[in-house]
Amino acid sequence: MKFNSKVIHAGQAPEETSGAVMPPIFQTSTYAQEAPDVNKGYDYARVGNPTRTALEKMIAGLEGADNCACFASGCAAMDAIIKMFRPGDHIIASNDLYGGTYRLFTQVFEPFGIRFTFTDMTSIENVRDAINEETKLFWIETPTNPLLNIVDIKALTDLAKAKKILTVVDNTFASSYLQRPLELGADAVMHSTTKYLGGHSDVIGGAVATSNKEIMDNLLFQVKTTGGVPGPMDSYLTLRGIKTLAVRMERTCENARKIAHHLKNHPKVKNVRYPGFEDHPGHEIAKKQMKDFGGMVSFTLKTDDIESAHTFMKNTKLFTLAESLGGVESLISHPATMTHGSIPAEVRRKAGLNDSLIRLSVGIEDGDDLIEDLEKAFKSV
Ligand SMILES: *Cc1c(COP(=O)(O)O)cnc(C)c1O
Repeated sequence: MKFNSKVIHAGQAPEETSGAVMPPIFQTSTYAQEAPDVNKGYDYARVGNPTRTALEKMIAGLEGADNCACFASGCAAMDAIIKMFRPGDHIIASNDLYGGTYRLFTQVFEPFGIRFTFTDMTSIENVRDAINEETKLFWIETPTNPLLNIVDIKALTDLAKAKKILTVVDNTFASSYLQRPLELGADAVMHSTTKYLGGHSDVIGGAVATSNKEIMDNLLFQVKTTGGVPGPMDSYLTLRGIKTLAVRMERTCENARKIAHHLKNHPKVKNVRYPGFEDHPGHEIAKKQMKDFGGMVSFTLKTDDIESAHTFMKNTKLFTLAESLGGVESLISHPATMTHGSIPAEVRRKAGLNDSLIRLSVGIEDGDDLIEDLEKAFKSV
């Protein structure tokens, strides 16, 4: 089955008792059993729920995985993955990570004795140099947020396999439509389904898909034991969102391309970050591992200060000032004072995250309207 059909049909069958084409919201905490050891596959809803199962089968199908476990948020999914590891284990991650991932690693797991090295993963040499005897995992995020750097998934999974190291890819920014890490050799793929998969900014969720039995067993143990699972209504909303993933992503990518090119030669813009540009350092890798270049565009203003960026954002109407990304509506944010506000200014600037850097999550509105909206804001700075 091709991807555009998978988003409708992967792992889905009409419900058995009624023929409902969408799975009902099984709002129950427990299930009647025929005998203490005999049930219909479900015994208690922390462990499993048919609406959640439908979502898990869908995401497994999209990623080409044997299995998937869904969680109450992207952070809960990451938490479950890292709990596979033990004190003394070493994990290599990008130095350009989602802020919540960095906080989870350094403030929850480091105090429990798991060790992390954060390095620029666009350089394979850097990653190779960071490996030690205890290295158990590469945590890969690509494209990165908000600088949109591209990490070569295949090159890193090849290196990891040679050293018997596991690889997990946070595929939130690209979505399964654009990028399928398991096909590139990753052991597991993780999503904040809050973003492109859900796609409508109305539900929080997370997922991990894998064909590695040991990883899956560990995840199912976490599902059962720590219980950071999504409710049936959230599972239903996410599944409903996924059905339009392919058409949404097509429009999103098309709009982002239009906007990136419009910004590139704009007299008030200093620099645009978009992996679709031939002069983007990761362009060739992006072309190889992604179907298109995504819906995120970041840019800096010629007057590179926080005030101009704030003024600019106050003057857009279709682009709503908000954190998050991947919904049908366009969002605008200022990483230096929002998502990345806790990073010291010098460290932030050194990484290329300038004072005026503005991040756009391009939605599925009309592309010309979005450009007109940005043009109005340019008049204010
Ligand atoms: C949002 C996000 C997360 C965390 O997911 P939540 O659903 O907000 O818990 C993890 N990684 C990336 C890349 C994200 O954008």
